[in-house]
Amino acid sequence: MTLTGHTIKRFGIEARYFDVHKPQELEALIDEKTKLILFESITNPSIDVPDFEGIVKIADAHGILTVVDNTVATPIHCKPFALGCDISVHSTSKYTTGQGLAIGGVIVERENLVEKIRGNPRYYHFNEPDASYHGLVYTDVPLPPFTLRTRLALLRDLGAAPSPFNSWLFIQGLEHLPLRMKQHSQNAQAVAEFLEAHPKVKKVNYPGLKSDVNYSYAQKYIKGGCSGLLSFEVESYEEALKIVDKTELFSLVVNIGDSKSIITHPASTTHQQLSHEELLAAGVPEGLIRLSVGLEDSEDLIDDLKQALEG
Ligand SMILES: *Cc1c(COP(=O)(O)O)cnc(C)c1O
Repeated sequence: MTLTGHTIKRFGIEARYFDVHKPQELEALIDEKTKLILFESITNPSIDVPDFEGIVKIADAHGILTVVDNTVATPIHCKPFALGCDISVHSTSKYTTGQGLAIGGVIVERENLVEKIRGNPRYYHFNEPDASYHGLVYTDVPLPPFTLRTRLALLRDLGAAPSPFNSWLFIQGLEHLPLRMKQHSQNAQAVAEFLEAHPKVKKVNYPGLKSDVNYSYAQKYIKGGCSGLLSFEVESYEEALKIVDKTELFSLVVNIGDSKSIITHPASTTHQQLSHEELLAAGVPEGLIRLSVGLEDSEDLIDDLKQALEG
């Protein structure tokens, strides 16, 4: 929301919003200026899994690029190109590093993306000579056009370049990402099942639970587990504050994707500037608690939540 509602707005770029379970909403939002359809494979913080097929179908019919933020699902659990998407982006500050060691991101484009961009009037800037680069036409060279343009036109001018040391940290993290994701997902599933059965918990949001509205989407698009992010709702703001204060293994911070478990109370931290009504409109009830389930023993994590809920 900060990126699309504020930062890119200052560049003259307008963002319009759609419900990821109602791709038909896109039809009324698309016009001749639409450049991208951006969505997350598992949304943060609402933890929804989108209707990939419906979104991709509409995007392709209009010749618009789809960009998937795959930060939470990671390439271990979701393969956006196999689902027909065009570009996959990740914050590497989360599961890639796994320990919150550095801030960074990656952009990956699918093979043969040039076929969707070449001659497409939406992307005239890829098809006309770029005066800032000796008249280069991005779709004329045998290189991935989106990546090339990102490097030449943005990375060079705006300086979004990672340092060698941070890049090295990310590569270290990638080596054990598959093992970690498996454990994050198993732990989160166990924690979600525990919470769902607890009398003090009103609702649990986790796409791996059969009761979750995202379950059928997750079955289709998310494989081998649903990652480590979940949220649950307790009775009140005060109750939530008490719980996040009482956990010992879960640290009260706002990052996600760390090896160590994290607990967040959005209403008193990340979303504290919003009024009661605005919180509800943003899908953040005052008693909502978000967990980023880490790699500790799942029984220890459950014991910690149990004492915090019941203490
Ligand atoms: C954290 C996050 C980002 C932003 O990443 P930074 O590396 O902190 O800039 C983008 N997308 C998702 C889904 C995230 O969770």
